[in-house]
Amino acid sequence: MKIKIILAWLSLALISGCAASSTRCQIEGYLGPMEIEVRSQNQRITELRVLSHEDTAEIADPAFAEFIAQVLEYQTLQIDAVAGATESCQALRRGIEQLLKRQGFTDEQCFRPLPETPVKQEEPLKTYDVVVIGGGGAGLTAAVSAAQQGASVAVLEKTGSLGGNTIRATAMYNCVDDALQRPLNIADSEQLFFEETYNGGHQKAKPELVRILTSQADEGLAFLQELGLQIDTVIDNCLGGEHARGHYSKAHNGTDFIQVLGDACAREGVDLYLNTKAEALLQDDSGAIIGVTAAHERQTIQFEARRGVILATGGFGYNVEMRMHYDQSLTGDLLCSNAPGTLGEGIVMAEAVGASLMNMEYIELYPMADIYDGGLHNSIPNAINHGILVNTQGDRFIREDAGRDELAEAIRSQEHGFVYSIADDDFSTLQEDRDFLEGLVLMGQVVKADSLDELARLLDLDPVLLNTAIADYNRSVEAQNDPRFHRKTLINKIDHPPFYATAKTVTVHHTLGGVEINERTQVLNSQKQPIPHLFAAGEVTGGIHGANRLGGNSFPDCIVFGRIAGTEAARN
Ligand SMILES: Cc1cc2nc3c(=O)[nH]c(=O)nc-3n(C[C@H](O)[C@H](O)[C@H](O)COP(=O)(O)OP(=O)(O)OC[C@H]3O[C@@H](n4cnc5c(N)ncnc54)[C@H](O)[C@@H]3O)c2cc1C
Repeated sequence: MKIKIILAWLSLALISGCAASSTRCQIEGYLGPMEIEVRSQNQRITELRVLSHEDTAEIADPAFAEFIAQVLEYQTLQIDAVAGATESCQALRRGIEQLLKRQGFTDEQCFRPLPETPVKQEEPLKTYDVVVIGGGGAGLTAAVSAAQQGASVAVLEKTGSLGGNTIRATAMYNCVDDALQRPLNIADSEQLFFEETYNGGHQKAKPELVRILTSQADEGLAFLQELGLQIDTVIDNCLGGEHARGHYSKAHNGTDFIQVLGDACAREGVDLYLNTKAEALLQDDSGAIIGVTAAHERQTIQFEARRGVILATGGFGYNVEMRMHYDQSLTGDLLCSNAPGTLGEGIVMAEAVGASLMNMEYIELYPMADIYDGGLHNSIPNAINHGILVNTQGDRFIREDAGRDELAEAIRSQEHGFVYSIADDDFSTLQEDRDFLEGLVLMGQVVKADSLDELARLLDLDPVLLNTAIADYNRSVEAQNDPRFHRKTLINKIDHPPFYATAKTVTVHHTLGGVEINERTQVLNSQKQPIPHLFAAGEVTGGIHGANRLGGNSFPDCIVFGRIAGTEAARN
C-alpha cells in the first residue's frame, strides 16, 4: 500500500522541569457543544486536544487535526481555517484563545505573526503519468480507473480530507435496473432515462454526453459494487423526477462512496496529496498540458503529468462572486448546500489555458432545503411523493412533482420566500423513517399536529385555506386527476393524523455549467478541438445536465465520466 497522506504531528513533547498549565472548557462548536483541552508551558502551547464534538466527524476530525498541527507548529492562532470546515475551525480557534488567555497568554502571544520563511522544504518536482485535481467522487473514480490501467497516479486535494460535495450528498444514484424495478412495477428504459434527462434539461445539454450518462450509469454502479460498495434494495424517485430509478448505498449518503473509492485508491497505489491546492495548469509550447503547479503548506510544488491531467474540482456554488457573474440574482443572501471549497478553481484554471465553457448561466437552486442552513437532510421522508407543498397562507401553489427549476422559481416568488412541506402519517412504512421524523419533531424542525386545524394554528396558516387545499388534493388523488395543477404522482390522500409540516426554501445547490468536454472527456478549446492531455469529469464540466438537472444524475455523472477520464488519460 503506497498511499501517502501528508499529515503533521499533532502534539509537541512537554519540556520537563518547567511549570505547566492545563485547562479544559466546553464551547459552542458548529453543530453543537465541543469540549477542548489546552496545555502550555512557559508561554508555549504544548498540547491541544478536542475531547468531544458534534460536528460531522468525517469533515471535522481531519480538519481539527490539521488546524491543531499548524497551531502547535507555528505557535499562533493566526492560522487559516481549514477549507471545507471553516465554521468548525473558527469555533475551535475561539475555544483555544479562551483557554490560552486563562493561562496568562496575551493577545500578542495568541496571535503571533506567522514565520516569513517556510519551515518545511518540499521536493519541488513530482512526476506521475496522471495527475487528478480534486478528491471528490469524480476525481477518486478517475484515479482508480487510471491506476487500473497501470498508470502512476497522484490526486491533489486542497482540503484536509477527501469528499468535496460528494461526501455531503444524499447520494441517490440513478440508473435503469430491471432486476430491482420490475418487481415494483416500475416501467423504465435507457431511452426513457435519456429523454427525462435531456428534455428535463430543456435540451441544453450535449445529447451525445447524455446518451453516455444514461447508457453507462448501470456499469458505473456495477464498478462501485465491485470496489465494495453495498447497495440498498430501495428504489426511489428524486425530487423533480417522474420515474423511480434512484439507488442508495447502505449508508444512504456519500460517506461510503468516498470510503470505498478512497480504499480502492489505496489498494491501487494512488498517491494522495491532501492540503495541496492546484493553482495553474502547465502547458508546453504546443499547448499540451504537461502538469500542474500546486501549493502545499506555503510551498509551491510542480506535478509533472506524462500522460494527462484530469480536472475534477467540482462546481462553484459557494463562490458568490462567480455565480453572480453568471446569474445576477444569486446573491450572497441565498443559502447554499455546498462544501465551502466549491469555488470553481478548476474552471478558472481551464479557462486560462483556452478551454471552452458551456451552460455557465444554469445554476440549480434546490427547492426543498432546510430553512435554517440550506442543508438537505432534515426533511419529512418521502414528502414530495406522499405530501404537498403549501404557501404561508396555507394554499397549494404548484404541482409538487414539477422540475426543480420550476419548483424553485415558484417557492422564491412566494411571500417570505419559504413554504411548508406537509404530509400525514402514511409518509412511510419504514420504522427508521418514523424514528428519524420523531427526532426532527423533538428538535423542533418538524411540527406535528393531531388535526389540520391544529397544524394551521401552530404554523399561523389560514385554517380554511389549508383544509380546502387538502380536501381538493384528496379528491384529485381519488380521481387520479389534479385539475388545478396537473400533478401526475397522486399516490396517497392526506387524511391520516397526525399531520407533519416543515418549512422549506431554496438553496444554491449545483452549478450545471463548466468546461466543455467531448465523449472521451477531453477538454475542448474555443474551436471545439481537444486541448492535448487535459481531461475533466464531474461537476466541473458543463453539457451533461443542460439547464435543469434530474436529481440523482450527478452521482452517475461523476462515476461514468470519471471512469472514462481515468482510462483515457492513462492510455494517452
Ligand atoms: C447536500 C448535497 C446533496 C446532494 N445529493 C445528491 C444526490 O443525492 N444525488 C446526486 O446525484 N447528486 C447529489 N448532489 C450533487 C453531487 O453531490 C455533486 O454534484 C457531486 O458529488 C460532485 O462531485 P465532484 O467529484 O465533481 O466534486 P466534489 O465532490 O465537490 O469534489 C471536488 C473536490 O475538488 C477539490 N478541489 C477544488 N478545487 C481544488 C484545487 N484547486 N486543488 C485541489 N483540489 C481542489 C474540492 O476540495 C473537492 O474535494 C448533492 C450535492 C449536495 C451539495
